[in-house]
Amino acid sequence: MYNFEFAKPKTVEEAASAMAAEGAQALGGGQTLLPTMKQRLASPEVLVSMTGIESMVGVAVRGDTLTIGGATTHAQVAADAADLYPGLAALAANIGDPAVRNRGTIGGSLANNDPAACYPAGALGSGATITTNTRDIAADDYFQGMFETALDEDEIITSVSFPIPEKANYQKFDQPASRFALVGVFVAKTADGVRVAVTGASNEGVYRWTEAETALSASFSEGALESMSGNLDDMIADLHGSASYRAHLVGVLTRRAVAACG
Ligand SMILES: Cc1cc2nc3c(=O)[nH]c(=O)nc-3n(C[C@H](O)[C@H](O)[C@H](O)COP(=O)(O)OP(=O)(O)OC[C@H]3O[C@@H](n4cnc5c(N)ncnc54)[C@H](O)[C@@H]3O)c2cc1C
Repeated sequence: MYNFEFAKPKTVEEAASAMAAEGAQALGGGQTLLPTMKQRLASPEVLVSMTGIESMVGVAVRGDTLTIGGATTHAQVAADAADLYPGLAALAANIGDPAVRNRGTIGGSLANNDPAACYPAGALGSGATITTNTRDIAADDYFQGMFETALDEDEIITSVSFPIPEKANYQKFDQPASRFALVGVFVAKTADGVRVAVTGASNEGVYRWTEAETALSASFSEGALESMSGNLDDMIADLHGSASYRAHLVGVLTRRAVAACG
């Protein structure tokens, strides 16, 4: 490690002004950022912690919308959203291990947009809105490729709002060493149709599988997908799985998610 300043603001306004400093970077649970700093792949001059901002921690429901503060840990979402949005709570409950779940935050996960992370699938599959200190961003506009998002450099994710669907389920095929998704599929059935978001599979990062959405919106059943599988062209191929293996998993996990929705 090397020397850096540490700021622990109590309000979003204080955080925004700390983030305006040269070389400042937001710190959520530090599960990604701190190892990156230790490896000297990142060297922020000021770390601005989000976890002391009370308004950014917690889970609240208003009407049909579940809102999660940007600094809320995965463990808190797993516990507090269990009755409100079970499909999303189950996703949070299966992220990493207990240490990661008790430190990692939804804002950190979405800002990082790891191509194998779970929350990007939950947010895109739910049609969530990412709220920052300056604006609202629809999930459809937010995810812009591997580790790429619509966020500006000093923008802070203050909360994420999820329309609660009729049914939803997330199926993850674990990469056993990291616990990230080798492939993960989030399926949400709403009155307006079905959304299917896939993580871990594509070189473009999380994406909506529109072909499956069309088939499932016409008939919400495993059979509607028949032997469909993901599009081979964009699939990640690495030592953990070939492109065709991942494409196959996309189909299998989507069918499992539909079956689990009941
Ligand atoms: C061993 C291990 C296993 C894991 N397994 C999984 C898994 O199965 N599924 C999964 O989805 N994830 C997994 N993760 C990732 C983890 O869950 C965290 O979500 C992730 O590391 C980032 O969240 P964080 O709060 O720790 O962010 P940090 O590491 O603090 O920050 C990450 C990035 O987000 C930025 N940031 C943080 N908070 C905000 C904010 N509020 N607004 C704007 N920018 C912000 C930071 O500046 C940084 O660029 C795993 C991590 C580890 C170490």
